Amino acid sequence: MKIIDLRSDTVTLPTPAMREAIYQAEVGDDVFGEDPTVNRLEEMAAQRMGKEAALYVASGTMGNLVALLTHCGRGDEFIVGHLAHTFLYEAGGSAALGSIHPRTLLNQPDGTLDLTDIEAAIRGENVHFPRSRLICLENTHNRCGGAVLTSEYTKAVCQLAQRHGLAVHLDGARVFNAAVALGVDVKELVEDVDSVQFCLSKGLSAPVGSVICGDEEFIYEARRNRKIVGGGMRQAGIIAAAGIVALEQMVDRLAEDHANARRLAEGLAEIPGLAINLDRVQTNIVIFELTSESLTPAELQARLGERGVKLLDIGGRGLRAVTHYGIEADDIEVALAVAREVMEQL
Ligand SMILES: *Cc1c(COP(=O)(O)O)cnc(C)c1O
Repeated sequence: MKIIDLRSDTVTLPTPAMREAIYQAEVGDDVFGEDPTVNRLEEMAAQRMGKEAALYVASGTMGNLVALLTHCGRGDEFIVGHLAHTFLYEAGGSAALGSIHPRTLLNQPDGTLDLTDIEAAIRGENVHFPRSRLICLENTHNRCGGAVLTSEYTKAVCQLAQRHGLAVHLDGARVFNAAVALGVDVKELVEDVDSVQFCLSKGLSAPVGSVICGDEEFIYEARRNRKIVGGGMRQAGIIAAAGIVALEQMVDRLAEDHANARRLAEGLAEIPGLAINLDRVQTNIVIFELTSESLTPAELQARLGERGVKLLDIGGRGLRAVTHYGIEADDIEVALAVAREVMEQL
């Protein structure tokens, strides 16, 4: 039985080209700036994002943390959605390690923050208040079902931030999914943000790593903060080599993941006892609800898992499935057949 693992796009395994690149990688000590493969990946990433410089980090969580530490000082406040990965799933790192105060605003179902909410949350100068320093956006928005933020929206937030002297960080873990879904150059989606973090280890299928991009001065400081959190790696070219292949070969194929997600969502929508808002399925993430009261989402997850289809219970009545490299169109049909069978047996 083939396991159809739809828990996350982080389960992707390196491609044969990546394993070859890893084997061949030229390496050096990256803390001395002497790993040619890491240097090449950072140059490529900066160029792809249209930024001056880039920094290779161990994970998306480290990328966001290092960016926050670089933008904000002790007691500063960052504005972030209540469903943001940075707020929900990064173990409170900004507070634990940076003494950075999160100001959460309600995420709209489309992954945006309301501009008027942001404006109202920005603090004036007053001895009682923390200082508003940063706005953090997420594209695509994980917990909002892979929702895509447009470049128009992102630019509007950046303009608002500039008017108030705040910076903008984009958690772009899946920003290439957004670019592919919109059919735009990724540069357009990050043009006005001060920093962006993207993951090589999700849909792009590299085994490890993320990259932070920004201007020279920002990246210089971010490099110090990476050292502080123990992210100065030595012959990191071994893993960065796969990241180069990811950028060169794995971006355009994300469209296949989006088509598979759409097919999965349409199939799930037809199964009695499940509900899904098809308009919300824009990229490779499918969030749906179990409306049948005959079992819990955890039980549904377990029953599908026993039959080789793995997905995630995400709390409430929600479940999440993510398509990726390694999931073929045929696997989607199998997953749907299994889901139909499980739901019919209730
Ligand atoms: C996965 C993810 C991260 C964190 O990446 P890790 O490499 O798992 O630490 C950050 N933000 C978003 C939106 C993500 O989906």
